Amino acid sequence: MNEYTECPKCGNDSIKLSTNEAWGVDYSVKTGKCLKKTYLECTAWHYVCKCGWISESFTQ
Ligand SMILES: [Zn+2]
Repeated sequence: MNEYTECPKCGNDSIKLSTNEAWGVDYSVKTGKCLKKTYLECTAWHYVCKCGWISESFTQ
């Protein structure tokens, strides 16, 4: 899922991967506490660089 390893604009290789992730979470109705958290999928992601460059958004 890594489309970029460096910024195509300035060549910086410490770019940031920003994701939208889906989790299934079970809560106790009584206490409101999180009982179980299950990772479902990464639904969308994009890359960001300090220079202001932002990649297009990728989806699955
Ligand atoms: Zn950059």
